[in-house]
Amino acid sequence: MEKNITGLIGYPLSHTLSPYMHNAVFKKYKMNWEYKVFELKKNELKNFIKNMKKENIKGVNVTVPYKQEIMKYLDTIDKGAEKIGAVNTIVNIKGKLKGYNTDYLGFEESLKKHKINLKGKDVVLFGAGGAAHAIVYVLQKHKPRIIDIINIDIPMAEKLVKKLKVKNARVWYLKESEVIDALVEGADFIINATSVGLDKKSMPYKIKKIKRKGIPVYDLIYNPPVTPFLKQAKKKGAKIINGLDMLIYQGMASFKIWTGRNSDYNTIVKALSAIK
Ligand code: NDP
Repeated sequence: MEKNITGLIGYPLSHTLSPYMHNAVFKKYKMNWEYKVFELKKNELKNFIKNMKKENIKGVNVTVPYKQEIMKYLDTIDKGAEKIGAVNTIVNIKGKLKGYNTDYLGFEESLKKHKINLKGKDVVLFGAGGAAHAIVYVLQKHKPRIIDIINIDIPMAEKLVKKLKVKNARVWYLKESEVIDALVEGADFIINATSVGLDKKSMPYKIKKIKRKGIPVYDLIYNPPVTPFLKQAKKKGAKIINGLDMLIYQGMASFKIWTGRNSDYNTIVKALSAIK
């Protein structure tokens, strides 16, 4: 029988963990499926999508830099993805393509796992890029008292607030250190959704004080597993969470969309920890 193909489209794709995650679960369940890597240049995207409708590609994940651009090629888009303005998962149903955003589902599931309750709480978020949109979408649903968005680019953060129609958000400039110190000190939950820390040595902001021991501090970055931002937060007594669970849960949500079956968290963790 012909193999069902899934995979990842983006550019460049040298460091992706997704094939390890999905192929381990396909193997465990003896499913005739494979997850491939499709590194596509910008001028190859349209053709890939056209062919995807005809071939046995059941769905794909979409990553940088195509999460927004891909939307114009799809037949339908899920409500959450539409609102966030980005698609990271496509399913091919008999030649019709539907787009989803499972990044937000992954983040939401990770909040549940870590028992983070945000109702009436004060949240500080660093960053206003693609991932921050998914985060704010989830935060809104959890009804915090306030979402303070801190960025180096104010218009970009203001655009996010407008796009997602956030009523209880404030936008702050990252370099206003006295204000930021006070916000961070008063926060019940602090999130880094910038890409600062991927280099293993920088942090978007140095946490000086937290409200009390055990405050959750979340960094969307999963490699390194402990960014300088999280290291500093831990020193101050915070409960630190990296982006690995968000990554795993977004993958599990995509798996379910493509195959109709539940993926397996433990198999994924095992597969990822075997990567050298
Ligand atoms: P984007 O490039 O869309 O956004 C990056 C954000 O970082 C922007 O707000 C940008 O500011 C800010 N930024 C960049 N450089 C600096 C700097 N020197 N100082 C302060 N802020 C800076 O990236 P994504 O939103 O797609 O991804 C953000 C991070 O989240 C990445 O590290 C990515 O790996 C991670 N991620 C993790 C996921 C997971 O499953 N765990 C899923 C998706 C993303 P500006 O607004 O000015 O551009």
